[in-house]
Amino acid sequence: MAVYINDTCINCGACIDECPVEAIVDEDDNPTGEEIYYVYPDKCVECVGHHDEPACATSCPTEDCIVWDVVGDSPEHREDITEDQRKNQASIV
Ligand code: SF4
Ligand code: SF4
Repeated sequence: MAVYINDTCINCGACIDECPVEAIVDEDDNPTGEEIYYVYPDKCVECVGHHDEPACATSCPTEDCIVWDVVGDSPEHREDITEDQRKNQASIV
């Protein structure tokens, strides 16, 4: 369960301070070496328990730059998360 920043990122910086779990790093700290912002998939919680939508995507000015329904085999996507899980009353994984 994680969002992904694709190569349409323009390095504007709008998303990084919106993340409640500090999962986002800028291009200088991107472990892939790409000159774009990066989300650590092991840190990102898709804002479940924090916001109704991924806050980074809400703040991003670039359409479809931050995505979350195409990310590999992550265990569960926010669309599948129950209300109890969203309220932290049940485990997400
Ligand atoms: S979806 Fe939420 S937790 Fe994940 S990177 Fe974006 S702001 Fe952070
Ligand atoms: S808000 Fe969007 S375009 Fe700006 S740095 Fe974050 S992912 Fe890149």
